[in-house]
This record gives sequence, structure tokens and C-alpha cells, in this order.
Amino acid sequence: MRVDPFNQPPPELGNQYDDDPALRACIERVIPEGDREAVVESLREMGELSGGELYRMQLEDRLNEPTLTQWDPWGERIDHIEVSPLWKHAEKIAAEKGIVATAYEKKLGRFSRVHQFALAYLFNQSTDVYSCPLAMTDGAAHTLVKMDNAALIDRALPHLTSRDPKHFWTSGQWMTESTGGSDVGTSETVAVEEDGQWRLYGRKWFTSAATGQMTLTLGRPEGNGPGGSGLALFYLEVQDDDGRFQNIRINRLKDKLGTRKVPTAELTLEGAPATLVTEEPKNGVRNITPMLNITRTWNAISSASGMARAINLARSYAEKRVAFGAKLSDKPLHLDTLASMAAEHEGAVQLAFFVAELIGRDECGELDEHHGRLLRLLTPIAKLTTGKQAVAIASEALECFGGAGYVEDTGLPVLLRDAQVLPIWEGTTNVLSLDALRAMSRDKAVLAALREEIGKIVEEATDPMLDDLARRAAEAVDHATQWITEATGSSPAEVEAGARRFALTLGRATELALLVRQAQHSLASGDQRPAAAARRFALAPFDLIRPIDLDGTKHVALGR
Ligand SMILES: Cc1cc2nc3c(=O)[nH]c(=O)nc-3n(C[C@H](O)[C@H](O)[C@H](O)COP(=O)(O)OP(=O)(O)OC[C@H]3O[C@@H](n4cnc5c(N)ncnc54)[C@H](O)[C@@H]3O)c2cc1C
Repeated sequence: MRVDPFNQPPPELGNQYDDDPALRACIERVIPEGDREAVVESLREMGELSGGELYRMQLEDRLNEPTLTQWDPWGERIDHIEVSPLWKHAEKIAAEKGIVATAYEKKLGRFSRVHQFALAYLFNQSTDVYSCPLAMTDGAAHTLVKMDNAALIDRALPHLTSRDPKHFWTSGQWMTESTGGSDVGTSETVAVEEDGQWRLYGRKWFTSAATGQMTLTLGRPEGNGPGGSGLALFYLEVQDDDGRFQNIRINRLKDKLGTRKVPTAELTLEGAPATLVTEEPKNGVRNITPMLNITRTWNAISSASGMARAINLARSYAEKRVAFGAKLSDKPLHLDTLASMAAEHEGAVQLAFFVAELIGRDECGELDEHHGRLLRLLTPIAKLTTGKQAVAIASEALECFGGAGYVEDTGLPVLLRDAQVLPIWEGTTNVLSLDALRAMSRDKAVLAALREEIGKIVEEATDPMLDDLARRAAEAVDHATQWITEATGSSPAEVEAGARRFALTLGRATELALLVRQAQHSLASGDQRPAAAARRFALAPFDLIRPIDLDGTKHVALGR
């Protein structure tokens, strides 16, 4: 007797804009009515690509990885990096669809950033972390504008923001050295002025997408003091007109857990010609901050975007997979699991796009003091909060597929591997928690600005259930404020030890408050879903402030 074995139909994706109620609600609320139709049309087009052509290419491209060829057959050093077919296609689409350009064309004024990041969010899901070079490209463009270097703006900005693939450039962000990625002030790269030309000598330890045409990087001009203030910010064109690396050796590509399509190189600068971005050859770490603010926001957007992809695949599977006589989508416990995942995603969307809105205000000269404080505080908070959520949701999503989630050729395990980088690069969770504290110590009103914003949401929440949720978000921020005020007075070590719980409390409480803002808005048009998402989000812990026992912590942490 022959038994035809059962074959499970795989998960499928539709239009990734239409199938993302969290993003749709946010866009509908934030983008002014007159512009909305055109924005939605462009997002729907990107959603179609993301769930269709690009997703199919992504599955086909699964086993391709970048390669480095250091020598040609005749012994010439060439250091050629070949990227995967999907990456080549992604570069073309990114330019044509203006995934960077949209922010700089400013057709929607301060809402251009939200539009651009929504395109990036949809594009990111099917392009194997091509968002990495785009984030750095956007960060470099933003930094050149902020630093107001006319010559470099003239030279590079038209390329970085081009919609023509032939003219489009991507940028790197070469900061991390083996001495430290967080403690970048320890960098060893030296900048020497030789015959009126700055040249860089040193080794960069993580340079993602070393395929970019330019980079912003740090080097210490000879004679400068130690630390971040002794470094200077440099602009560097990676290759000459013949496509040869300009006194740069690619030593190897990193063998990484995830982001395997991204050619992350270790390289040596052997007198690479570079140009100072600022007049004064110092304060490099401070001067590269605008770049980090943009790449950190890309990180938050990519976190929310990765969660959307994982959840959409899990939703599709739940409609197809049968267990114990019913579809998973009819099993109350599976639905409960999906609902918790979706609520985390909705919170991440709200927080990431709120920061995008604030950047848009900044770039259009509409950033008042209050919103400036929110931008300073919420940039690291959004990055660190959503990065942690992205890993948790990717892990949960894999479990939603049972064994299939662990099998490579389903294309699912990569979701978790790629998510794991999100809390690491662009500042780890701890480093960004300390950055949030730094923001507060420099400007005491930063925390009060967040409390004021949440206070506004409390006032606007007319629905009793939403009012209660908004008050609980406000109470969590009050609790965090009380903790930091008391700890600052008594023990700096306690403040540092509690910084992550403090930052995550602010992040999660802000997400809850923003979910309430969305829910209140959506109720007016009869959409109850965002209110249910806010209620669901509040079931998970958001006030993480706990008493700290420094001695006990040390015993447990070090096992002695
Ligand atoms: C795939 C990938 C691509 C990358 N691409 C780039 C790139 O293109 N350009 C670039 O410049 N860098 C890049 N990086 C480097 C990345 O930004 C750094 O790895 C990251 O910033 C952490 O630095 P580190 O590796 O030196 O770790 P460390 O700074 O040594 O951190 C180790 C641990 O110590 C913790 N820690 C550090 N300081 C403190 C503190 N004061 N208090 C408490 N805890 C602390 C950290 O949270 C972390 O858990 C990339 C990294 C990866 C993984």
C-alpha cells in the first residue's frame, strides 16, 4: 500500500502595506489628509514589491553570500567584493524608489521623514539587510548637511540622494576598531597631513557594506590628545576613478551569525586620502553624532519592520497549519501568543515613527525646545527598546512554526539571526541606556518633556479604558523619575546599574502612551483594533524599576 505523505502548504505573503494594520493606522493618523493618498499609493506599491517580487527573490537568493577576491590571477591586489544578486537589485530599487532621497526632497515638509521611513520599513523586509548601507548613506547625508561643509555637500549629497542608480552612492560609517566600538575614543587610527592632504593610517575592525563609494570615519590628527575629542571626523572616497581602493586593504570579511548578505569587512588604512568634515581637526565623536542619530532611527524602523515580517508569516501559517483537528488560527492559545507579538510590534511602530516625525521637524526647522528634548531622549530609547523587542518577537515567531521554524530552507531561521544584530550595532542596549542618562544630566528638562508629552496623551484620552492605560504609562515614568532622582542623590553606581531598567521603562511606557494616542484617534473612525492592541501591550511589564542591591549584584554577576 502506498501512502501519499502530507505536505504542509508554506506561509504566503500578500501586499505588505495592506497586510500591516499597525503601519496603516500610523500613516493614516500622521500624514495630513491632502498628502495621504499619494503617500499610501507609494507605500502600497512598495508593499506589493516587498510581499511579491522581492520576497520571491529573497527566497531564491538564500544561499548566496558576498565574496572577497583579494588578488587577480596575475598577482595584482584587487580586493573585489561581489555582493549577492538580491543586493544588486536592491540597490537599484532603493535609488529608484527614493528610499533615501524622499527625506531630502522634502515634498511633504516635515512629514517627508515619516514617508521615507515607511518606504524603508517595507523595503527592508525583503532585501536582506540592504537597509544597513542605506542607513549609513542617509546618516552621512544628514551629517554633511548638519556640519554645513559646502564643498562636501556639493560633491557627495547629489549622489547620496540620487534616484538614478547610475549616480547613486552609498556610504560607510567606519568607527569601530578592535580597541572599542562603544568606547570609540580609544581608536588608534592616526591622521597625518602630508603635502596639504590628510592621510589615514590604522585598522577599522567592523566596516559594514565596504562596497560604498564613500565613508565618514574617525582618525586622530598627530599631536591631538586622547579620547573622543582628540579624534576628527573625516570624509573619505573609498575608490579612485578606476575603481581601485585608495590605499585601503580589505583584510577579510567577517564570518557572522546573521546579516550574512552584508559584506562586513576588517580593513587597513595605509595612508588613505581623506578630507576633514569640520574646520577644526577635533571633536570627531561629537561631530559624527548626527550620523548615529539617523542610523539608530533606521535601526528602530528596521526592528519594527522585521517584527512585521515575522508576524505576517506566522499569521499566514496559522491560517494553514492544522493541529488537533483545527487550524492554529482557531486555537485560543495560539491566538493569544500572536496577539502578544502583534502588540509588541504595534508599540515598536508607534515609537519608531514618533522619532521619525521628530527628525522631520528638525530637518524642516520646526523643532521647538519641547520636541528637541524628546528627540534627544527618545532616539537612544527607541533604538534600545525596539532592538530588544525585535529579537524576542523573531524568536517567538520561529516557535510559531514548530520544527519548520528551525529549518534553514524555509527561510525562517534568518529572521532570528538577522534580528540579533539590532541590539548590538549602533550602540548596545547598555551603552544607549547610559547615553539616555547623559542626555538627562546635560539637560534636566529632558525627562520632564517626556512626562509632559505623556500628560498630553492622558488629557486627550476620552475613552475610559484608554485614559486608564495612559495614566499607567504616566505613573511608570513618574516611578522612573522618582527612582533616578533618589539614586542620583545617593549612589552614582546605583544609577549606572539601573540604567537599562530605567531606559526600558521609559521606552515601554512611551510605547504604551503612543499606542493610546493611536487608539484614541482610531476609535473616532470606528476602528477598535488599536485599542485592543494597547490593552494587550499593557499586559506585559512596562514599569521595570526595581530596587538595586549592588553587593548582591556583584556576587551573582561574577559568580564569586
Ligand atoms: C554585523 C555587524 C556590523 C557592524 N558594522 C559596523 C560598521 O559598519 N561600522 C562600525 O563602526 N561598527 C560596526 N559594527 C560594530 C558595532 O557597532 C560594535 O560591535 C558595537 O558598537 C559594540 O562595540 P564592541 O564590539 O567594541 O563591544 P564592547 O564595546 O566591547 O561591548 C561589550 C559589552 O560591554 C557592554 N558595555 C560596554 N561599555 C559599557 C558600560 N560603560 N557599561 C555597561 N556595559 C558596557 C556592551 O553593552 C556589551 O555588552 C558592526 C557590528 C556588527 C556585529
